[in-house]
Amino acid sequence: MSQTEHFDVVILGSGQGGKKLAWHLGHSGKKVAVVERRWVGGSCPAVACMPSKNELWSARVAHLVQNAAQFGTLAAAVKTDMRKVRSRKQDMIDREIEFHLNAYKSSHAELIMGSGRFMGPKIIEVALNDGGTRLLTGNEVVVNVGTHAAIPDIPGLEAVRPLTHIEVLELDYLPSHLIVLGGGYTGIEMAQAYRRFGSRVTIIEPGRQLMGREDADVAEEILGILTAEGIQILLDAQPVGVHGLSGDEITVTMRTAAGEQKVEGSDLLVAAGRIANTGDIALDKAGVALDARGFVHVNERLETTASGVWAIGECAGSPQFTHVSVDDFRIVRDNMAGGNRRTDDRLVPYVMFTDPPLARVGLSEGEAQRKGIPVRVATLPMSNVLRTEATDETQGFMKVVVSASDDRILGFTMIGSEAGEVMAAIQTAMLAELPYTKLRDAVITHLTIAEGFGPLFGNVPARAA
Ligand SMILES: Cc1cc2nc3c(=O)[nH]c(=O)nc-3n(C[C@H](O)[C@H](O)[C@H](O)COP(=O)(O)OP(=O)(O)OC[C@H]3O[C@@H](n4cnc5c(N)ncnc54)[C@H](O)[C@@H]3O)c2cc1C
Repeated sequence: MSQTEHFDVVILGSGQGGKKLAWHLGHSGKKVAVVERRWVGGSCPAVACMPSKNELWSARVAHLVQNAAQFGTLAAAVKTDMRKVRSRKQDMIDREIEFHLNAYKSSHAELIMGSGRFMGPKIIEVALNDGGTRLLTGNEVVVNVGTHAAIPDIPGLEAVRPLTHIEVLELDYLPSHLIVLGGGYTGIEMAQAYRRFGSRVTIIEPGRQLMGREDADVAEEILGILTAEGIQILLDAQPVGVHGLSGDEITVTMRTAAGEQKVEGSDLLVAAGRIANTGDIALDKAGVALDARGFVHVNERLETTASGVWAIGECAGSPQFTHVSVDDFRIVRDNMAGGNRRTDDRLVPYVMFTDPPLARVGLSEGEAQRKGIPVRVATLPMSNVLRTEATDETQGFMKVVVSASDDRILGFTMIGSEAGEVMAAIQTAMLAELPYTKLRDAVITHLTIAEGFGPLFGNVPARAA
């Protein structure tokens, strides 16, 4: 049995919040260990946000070149070199690894590469990647182990060796026909990218619309954009069987309203939700309870059911975004230091990085209806934003939800060029609790996308007397 090594804080998983906590505590003079089994900086820079956005950008370049003639540039036949797409992405990951290793070094937080599991309350055994084990204890322990892609229980699915986001980002060939199981954010982003690289693409979505959390008009607009690019989208299609081998030949059989249907393709990507990485770390030995879906049960201070054990990021059931995991870090940092910060009072924005992107912050119209919150809603097509006359980026719309009883902005959704950046301006106004009229009446630069705020907020119906 290895000898126990004691730390002020042990962090299990080098996720987005955990690593920042380690660096912060290390710089503050605490003795900190981070246990990471695979990715030096967690999933975001290795297999999720950053590599996917890197490849999406390559796909955007391909799309612009393919359509260059529309803007007066004549390009010869366009072809994607997937090996170059992949190596450009890998160069970025290598830079990220170097950055993370330097950050660990300069903070004096120790990064231990191996798989950790609890042996008791605040005791973690690490099976080192290089062989051997270490036994770590901490005054405090933080769990930041993230999630992995779910493989739904569909007959034959596992046997066809489907791609997840990890493998699809490693492809160095172009699938002739990529089938995507799941019409959520990740599936849609990758579907558009591969279509633009030159693959035939089919999305299979069991629900009645894409992106089940979004309003129907938002899902409809994205569906129109993807369909116009030649992506086949099958809604209300329940996969019941899969045959073949991804990378070779794939057949998906679906139950639809019109009866059983089959789609044949070359490669299969599964993007059908996430499962917490809590199954094999023996949290029960630490007294840490899980919720019904297997996520760590935490209170709004991110404390687990075991004293001195915290959880951060996706494994704690936090909204599945890097910026939320990073905010979880700030909450735990402050609460460890005796503060009282909470997760239930934050405004969480997000972006789906399609082209054009979808950005959303706060309440949607549908959520307001379901919660019985009286609201006023205004929309503005992007074709009414003057900048799009210059850029031809006329797809999409802005949609704002304003309180019916006062002039506070409760939510904003946008599909359109620069949607993420434009949303940040609205988010700032929401945080400052500005009445929408301030944005309606502001002098905003011509010829920007945000110039649309004038007509958008001008469309908000007057408050009922
Ligand atoms: C394809 C894709 C694209 C995405 N794009 C975006 C985006 O554009 N913007 C955005 O905000 N979010 C995006 N996300 C979500 C984002 O990646 C996550 O929300 C973010 O990484 C936060 O994760 P985390 O901190 O919970 O854990 P992670 O970053 O997943 O880190 C958990 C770490 O724990 C390690 N680990 C697990 N178990 C053990 C163990 N037993 N022992 C040791 N180590 C262990 C894992 O190896 C991993 O490195 C995307 C996700 C995917 C899949």
